[in-house]
Amino acid sequence: MLAPLLAAMPGRWPGKEWKKTASGGNWANIGSRPGHKTEIPASNGCMNLDAYRKKRQFGVTKEPRGADDARTEDGSLIYAVQKHMASRLHYDFRLEWRGVLLSWAVPKGPSLDPAVKRLAVLTEDHPVEYAEFEGVIPNGQYGAGTVMLWDRGTWHPEDPDVDSFLQKGEIKFTLQGKKLKGAWVMVRTRGFGKVPDGSTWLLIKHRDQYASAKDVTQEEPRSVTSRRLLAEIARDDGGDVERASRGDPSGKGRNTARAKPAPGNVKRGRRPF
Ligand code: MN
Repeated sequence: MLAPLLAAMPGRWPGKEWKKTASGGNWANIGSRPGHKTEIPASNGCMNLDAYRKKRQFGVTKEPRGADDARTEDGSLIYAVQKHMASRLHYDFRLEWRGVLLSWAVPKGPSLDPAVKRLAVLTEDHPVEYAEFEGVIPNGQYGAGTVMLWDRGTWHPEDPDVDSFLQKGEIKFTLQGKKLKGAWVMVRTRGFGKVPDGSTWLLIKHRDQYASAKDVTQEEPRSVTSRRLLAEIARDDGGDVERASRGDPSGKGRNTARAKPAPGNVKRGRRPF
């Protein structure tokens, strides 16, 4: 059912992106590690933080270890998105459920356009305290790089039986964030390449008054709490400023890609490199 939908996706096909795992390991920090036996993320039925804790040294990274009995005081459910410049830029999309944050890595980040389906790879459950984390994960640690709290708020499942819908592979919900609002859906699709079955989902905006053609990741690139860019977070927390800046809209990567060739250097109609 989803095959025609994926074929219609503009740009690269998710399967091709994932093939990089085997060769370059560029995706090491948003899914399983190349060369390691892939574990099905805990969110496929048994919410727990074992996989999360196994990957981290809490004396070294400032990320939270997480309490086992964490609860939101007023009963609302936390929603958060972290922009993470690890070995590769991605957005970690998190929804609180049963005392943990269900987590998906979204390489291109969310889109407000209902016609755009964004690949979202289910990763290990994170502690609810993680929704407050912004800073630098030291080199050598899992996910080493710079983390920005890009958006946060609350979420409401359309149907309260979230467990059934997780099993079914389709969760409809509304977001009450600062940047993302309104109706969304997360739909599981078949796996690609090295991605374990059940890990590959698509994040899609539903049509409502919050749908828009605006490129929210480019137009709202700053932290929802500190207003900092990735480079500023890296600078303040002793991280790699140059690398972090590549994830910012004014970052080197984008400037290079957009740089106009010096006049006279390049013949009309030819690429500058
Ligand atoms: Mn991440």
